[in-house]
Amino acid sequence: MGRCVYCGERRGFWGKTCGDCKKLLARVEELRGRVGYGEFLDGLAATGVPKEKILVFLKADPEGKGSIQDQVTAEMASELMSVMGLKGNQTPQEVKRIRETTTKESK
Ligand SMILES: [Zn+2]
Repeated sequence: MGRCVYCGERRGFWGKTCGDCKKLLARVEELRGRVGYGEFLDGLAATGVPKEKILVFLKADPEGKGSIQDQVTAEMASELMSVMGLKGNQTPQEVKRIRETTTKESK
């Protein structure tokens, strides 16, 4: 037995994620790149997983590639920029950096 790499809750014998996070991951793959952030969150809520758990899931960064939230935000930002005819590609790291800078400044 171990803990889910996303939410830290106890999981079953198989895999690195618990059933809820597995459900959320599948939904993320369905939704990413197709909907806006509000619809994205609604889609995750529709899985029936409690909202607090969804928030923990979105902020987890088990692979060090940026959290799901930062990855999806980066994809949406890149898409928006290309729609507006701007060049550039937002990376999860960049989104994280911007968010951390903003958080520091607002203190
Ligand atoms: Zn989990």
